[in-house]
Amino acid sequence: MFCPKCGSLLRPKDKGGKTVLFCTCGFTKSIEGESTEITEKVDAGKKIEVMENLETHPKIKTTCEKCGNNLAYYWTQQTRGADEPETRFFRCTKCRFTWREYS
Ligand SMILES: [Zn+2]
Ligand SMILES: [Zn+2]
Repeated sequence: MFCPKCGSLLRPKDKGGKTVLFCTCGFTKSIEGESTEITEKVDAGKKIEVMENLETHPKIKTTCEKCGNNLAYYWTQQTRGADEPETRFFRCTKCRFTWREYS
């Protein structure tokens, strides 16, 4: 590879763990790190799955804000990262209104 500035032959040189090509005129070119891998964690966009077999879930005494019923099915679901607390879901046994509560 030749220097784009003066046309001299570039020489490899170790610079802080990275190999760079340098020229006597002062021009340097990095030959590593050009293909920087960007590892981006894509959030899968977890959706709240509405459980259909709610009859299998335990019931809890809580007041439905829609119809005033005081019994609801409840379950927990990990909606965010594993280090995050679980989210509690409730569904009214009467009107099937579903809401959630962060613990
Ligand atoms: Zn040069
Ligand atoms: Zn209700």
